[in-house]
Amino acid sequence: MATKAYRDAHKAENVAGSRAWRLANPERRKANRKAEYWADPVAARAATRAWALANPERAKQGKRSWASSHPENVRASSRKHRLKTKEKQRIQTRTWRAAHPDLVHIQKNRRRARLAGAVGSYSVQEWLALLESFGGKCGYCGSEVGIHPEHRQPLSRGGSNDIANIIPACRPCNSWKNVKTEAEFRAVMASCKTT
Ligand SMILES: [Zn+2]
Repeated sequence: MATKAYRDAHKAENVAGSRAWRLANPERRKANRKAEYWADPVAARAATRAWALANPERAKQGKRSWASSHPENVRASSRKHRLKTKEKQRIQTRTWRAAHPDLVHIQKNRRRARLAGAVGSYSVQEWLALLESFGGKCGYCGSEVGIHPEHRQPLSRGGSNDIANIIPACRPCNSWKNVKTEAEFRAVMASCKTT
């Protein structure tokens, strides 16, 4: 009879016996474990987690040996991780860009200036100080909407990308000014006002 006393007395024997059986029947053991897992996946995962916490070294070893025998899975999972990270970064960048249109413009100006072979550059701090000195308004018309850095002397006409050549401008002024110099644009604005 399998009383507790009997079981205790034969514990070592039983442990050795089941280990021998496991070694002799790897496929059936795998099937059993699979069935066990699918009987209650949530509990099975929790049990695995608990075991891994209690046996960190063995868990690490197990993970490593699983990884070395499943290179395809490892590749797929790191690909998935990379995509997830990339998507997260994309969202972060998009959010930041939406919140800082003027700073985005600074980046664009830097690139345009570099491509145009213009000299000079300015920092975000210099831009913010300049913007503040203009009360956050367009340096041409006084609008407060969509203000971004604009080149007084256009890059295409040899203007530098130094802060001295930058003025806060709204979009309509920027597109109206286009490749005019500041002086030319102010003359056009004045003639429009008088007529
Ligand atoms: Zn304006």
